[in-house]
Amino acid sequence: MNLLQTYEANGVSRPVYEYGESVLDALRDRFDAIDRMAELNQGKVIRAMQDARVDAACFAATTGYGYDDVGRDRLEEVYASVFGTEAALVRPQITCGTHALTVALSANLLPGDELLSPVGLPYDTLQEVIGIRPSPCSLAEYGVRYRQVDLLPDGGFDYPAIRAAIHEKTKLITIQRSKGYATRPSFSVAQIGELISFCKGVKPDVLVMVDNCYGEFVEELEPSQVCADLCVGSLIKNPGGGLAPIGGYIVGTKACVERCAYRLSAPGLGQEVGANLGILPSFYQGLFLAPTVVAGALKGAIFAACLYERLGFRVVPGGAEERHDIIQAVELGSEAGMRAFCKGIQAAAPVDSYVEPIPWAMPGYDDEVIMAAGAFVQGSSIELSADGPIRPPYAVYFQGGLTWYHAKLGILRSLQSMVDAGLTVLPN
Ligand SMILES: *Cc1c(COP(=O)(O)O)cnc(C)c1O
Repeated sequence: MNLLQTYEANGVSRPVYEYGESVLDALRDRFDAIDRMAELNQGKVIRAMQDARVDAACFAATTGYGYDDVGRDRLEEVYASVFGTEAALVRPQITCGTHALTVALSANLLPGDELLSPVGLPYDTLQEVIGIRPSPCSLAEYGVRYRQVDLLPDGGFDYPAIRAAIHEKTKLITIQRSKGYATRPSFSVAQIGELISFCKGVKPDVLVMVDNCYGEFVEELEPSQVCADLCVGSLIKNPGGGLAPIGGYIVGTKACVERCAYRLSAPGLGQEVGANLGILPSFYQGLFLAPTVVAGALKGAIFAACLYERLGFRVVPGGAEERHDIIQAVELGSEAGMRAFCKGIQAAAPVDSYVEPIPWAMPGYDDEVIMAAGAFVQGSSIELSADGPIRPPYAVYFQGGLTWYHAKLGILRSLQSMVDAGLTVLPN
């Protein structure tokens, strides 16, 4: 069987396959650059595991309090080393990215303190955490105030307004690296570093936390290496490598991470408790695979951007733009377009491929949301997935792919589905 036949057997027609190949021809150099980045980050992860003397004893299950859990402690050593920080908290007891961010914020903000976001409105789920949208147990309820400086129309930082917003009570500054469900650009680590250095220039003792979701291993440096005090993310995104079935991480200064551990467990207990329940092999092996998995997801994002851009759809970031995370937005212009795109992604999945995603009223969102995901780990968005709110400009946010080949198949099937529905026409 040749490649075309394989794709035909997986629901991709010859014209769609050939159009895809023509798009790919122009991407060889960029894919090479992505492979080099993966190689670099792979070396970093292996070095960290060797330095921490990872061995079979690290994979043993612990139960109960989990005192003296060697595997857990060494994994945290490995994360601290990979992210270039003094300390790390990496736990299955952190249930998701929002939880990790909540722990980091509530551990380091006290009543009367002010939290500042200099990059506009934070990710949807954090709005309730902060209390921008009222919720029981929000930071606002505990007397933490919130202030925000929006980005400039071109997506840049509004430095004069940021300077004016920092004052005596400003305790912590939160910076979201990835765009989330917004159409603003994602920030490079260098841009984040500049912003951090500006803020610390205004107030040297201010703490800076970076929401690093979807950004891990996309670049050589992480935000924790450009002076962020805390860097936070989810293990069912990039650093879990698709294998971690749950979890979150917080890396940063010893002082900040220690407080996070006290917040997560209890004052006085901190990092000393927390059994691993036998889950650590997936954390170690997932981190080991993460640079390669992220590379595959990045190739998929760029392929999707170029494929759809050439057909006249607006894509964010543009096909030729540099990447700072694995998210790709494609504006399809109609609900029918979103449905067709998601139908194709779903049809290419190894799991749940026979279902057709339809929009539904999800809790916490004003508009109906459509989601395509056929994942081994429920909700895992390092696996190939696409979602978006049903509202103009009818954008789907596309991400992940445990392998580049699966991402490629998913994207080709999304296009096949668009073509079959008469929503786009291939160029001659
Ligand atoms: C995914 C995400 C979160 C929240 O993570 P969950 O694991 O879904 O709770 C927070 N911030 C950003 C930018 C994200 O992409």
